Amino acid sequence: MTPNLPIYMDNHATTAVDPRVLAAMLPWFTTKFGNAASRTHSFGREAEEAVDKARDQVARALGASSAKEIVFTSGATESNNLGIKGAAHMLREQGDHIVTICTEHKAVLDSCMALEREGFRVTFLPVDNQGLVSAAQIEAALTEQTILVAVMAVNNEIGVVQPLEQIGAMCHARGVLFFCDAAQGLGKVPLDVEAMHIDLCAVTAHKIYGPKGVGALYVRRKAPRVRLEAMIHGGGHERGLRSGTLAVPLLVALGEAAELAVAEMPAESARIGALRERLHGGLTAQLEHVYLNGHPTLRTPGNLNCSFAYVEGESLLMGIHDVAVSSGSACTSASLEPSYVLKALGVDDELAHTSIRFGIGRFNTEAEIDYTIGRVVEVVNRLRDMSPLWEMVQEGIDLKSVQWTGH
Ligand SMILES: *Cc1c(COP(=O)(O)O)cnc(C)c1O
Repeated sequence: MTPNLPIYMDNHATTAVDPRVLAAMLPWFTTKFGNAASRTHSFGREAEEAVDKARDQVARALGASSAKEIVFTSGATESNNLGIKGAAHMLREQGDHIVTICTEHKAVLDSCMALEREGFRVTFLPVDNQGLVSAAQIEAALTEQTILVAVMAVNNEIGVVQPLEQIGAMCHARGVLFFCDAAQGLGKVPLDVEAMHIDLCAVTAHKIYGPKGVGALYVRRKAPRVRLEAMIHGGGHERGLRSGTLAVPLLVALGEAAELAVAEMPAESARIGALRERLHGGLTAQLEHVYLNGHPTLRTPGNLNCSFAYVEGESLLMGIHDVAVSSGSACTSASLEPSYVLKALGVDDELAHTSIRFGIGRFNTEAEIDYTIGRVVEVVNRLRDMSPLWEMVQEGIDLKSVQWTGH
């Protein structure tokens, strides 16, 4: 059975809005359009109640002890900026050092680099060749001046899950705030800001089958009470931390998406994990020299990131154009740069260019997986048949021993 084409298998980049989420948000655009800050009439009051419910849903999804700990934002990029810069600015008197890892999302790395330009010092720790960092490694990087540790829950390229509980416990024992970008973690792996000692946690709706343009930042209020400097000033919404009229339909959608993602996680993880194993198994059964990037088991069920040696990366992506996936190359304006995440694992540039990130999600089916396997196998075989390197490998020549001329 051929599935409908093209197939969407890039669910780390964004996800389709779940019809249930869309249904929940629609009335808040039309009949229920009130401003949640207009408490003088019923339009405003019903909007405020909807926002309260969404705040509760997000708090519960994260294991927060109070809905007051949730600040709504425009997405994880804003939450990362507010959490990291907001905390650093507040703690400037106590210290000027931040520890993070080099495989974080750009929104974390660039926020840290902005702080460096203000005089903060940042340690960007390496990860091991499976993409993981340990609490011990982070602890060794702490100094008397360290105020904040920022480690993501789940990596957006290779899907590896960091040891949050150990890192959080260590941070709390050392009196350092723990910030976690959980954009790829919510609804994919268990998340609990209490058990994991997370002080600041960023999430976004469009990675969990909600709309783009809405997210949240969890800000701990007890043990310790975390204080932030606001970035957006105005009417004092979100207790002064993020001014601007609340986007009620988007917040309703975020709340609904978060509740669904967590409620359905056990069943969905099993189903999606089985699809991932089917994809990985199908590819490796029919192709040699396929290398998995990232830890084999400590990863989210929907992520498969593989390098296909001896093919030309761009041709591979073009060849499987009816399956939407991401590559291990970041297209910058002028050149194809290998992904900094794969580089951090020690994957060489050549191989990084042949890497594909498959992001399996809620709406993918077995038929789509089988079609994808067939397509990738066909394209990889065709490209290898054209490759002189592949011919040499088939003849048993060790490419590392070859004396190349030219260059
Ligand atoms: C998508 C993503 C972000 C950015 O989220 P937006 O809501 O698109 O701003 C940040 N961090 C990670 C890990 C992500 O996957």
